[in-house]
Amino acid sequence: MAMSCDHPDLLPLEEALRRLWEALPAPHTAEVRADRDDPAMDRAAMDGVALRSGDGRAPRRILGTLFAGDDPAAFRVEPGTCVRIMTGAALPPGADAIVPVEQLSESEGAALVLVDPEPGDHVRPRGEQARAGDLLLPAGAPLTAAAMGLRAQVGLPVPGPVRLRVAVASTGDELVALPAAHQIRDSNGPMLAALAHALGADVLHRPSLPDDPAALAAALSAPDGTPILLTSGGVSMGEHDHLPSVLAGLGARILFHRIRLKPGKPMLAALLGDRLVLGLPGNPVSAYLNALLFLPVALARLQGLARPDPWRRGTLAARVKNKGDRPLLHPCRQRDGELHPLPSKGSGDLVTLAQADACAWIEPGGLEAGAKVRYLPVL
Ligand code: AMP
Ligand code: MG
Repeated sequence: MAMSCDHPDLLPLEEALRRLWEALPAPHTAEVRADRDDPAMDRAAMDGVALRSGDGRAPRRILGTLFAGDDPAAFRVEPGTCVRIMTGAALPPGADAIVPVEQLSESEGAALVLVDPEPGDHVRPRGEQARAGDLLLPAGAPLTAAAMGLRAQVGLPVPGPVRLRVAVASTGDELVALPAAHQIRDSNGPMLAALAHALGADVLHRPSLPDDPAALAAALSAPDGTPILLTSGGVSMGEHDHLPSVLAGLGARILFHRIRLKPGKPMLAALLGDRLVLGLPGNPVSAYLNALLFLPVALARLQGLARPDPWRRGTLAARVKNKGDRPLLHPCRQRDGELHPLPSKGSGDLVTLAQADACAWIEPGGLEAGAKVRYLPVL
């Protein structure tokens, strides 16, 4: 079906995510090389006895025990002898195989082997994993927890685990703690703070800001040491939507403004100095979904991790219409392995979002029951 496109200027979500990823600096990570052979000596891969395989099933006197970390030079395995050995311990000179506890019987200080040992049995030979100087990770490889472990293993400095700090500030003159009928409470601020926390950030929850250009400019440019600021509201086309012009006036680099997504069209991202401002739309469902899409990407990039893929795959239990020309993220509940669409009233419907546990991606034209969809888990 040919779709009309009312919004040719809107940036596809994937392109917006890519721009954000590329605009942010990843920490520099040097290549990782083996500082020595790994393992640096032949090591036991099982608990058992270390012995000379060539002596077959002959009984052997047990000379003593080697634990991981013990110097194996304390023993020398000769014909008729063996050494009790624990996983990770270096092989004593003379031994070339391990017979595991499960394949031994022991009596009066002697080990009786119940199998025919072969050279190298249950031994991690020196250099099996890497030779000194081998390249283990190229420069710029993602700083995963496993990579941190590997850096520690080869003696490189390991940056301490830090949580990035994310500031959260709502905007809007209508936001008050005790609302009259024409006012509302700030739901986005607490929601975005909780989401940023759930995504692994430290949160600085700031007071909400008025729809006043000077006040916005002052708040945006005040340094608070946070590399990311989440705002909500003030980015669409209303007369009080000052954020885009205020950011431009401060010399911010606008990465994108307005994306092809429903809800969430007014989404804005900008770099103000080296601080990222994610200007989320004010409608709560839009604010939530855009934060869920963009914040993990920013956090991962700034921490030197791989770009996250938040999407899961599922099956739609019922039809969802999408008459618009933007892809729709529709709240669903998962039951019996299927996504059951909820009757959402749109971008302001925080009630339905809070009752949902997933949001399904519905292309323009809609989808029928049984369709395979990708979806975002609601955090
Ligand atoms: P805006 O994007 O500022 O035009 O806001 C769009 C809609 O979201 C309006 O109905 C606002 O009242 C509402 N809204 C904006 N900020 C918040 C907030 N922090 N909490 C709840 N609703 C909000
Ligand atoms: Mg507003």
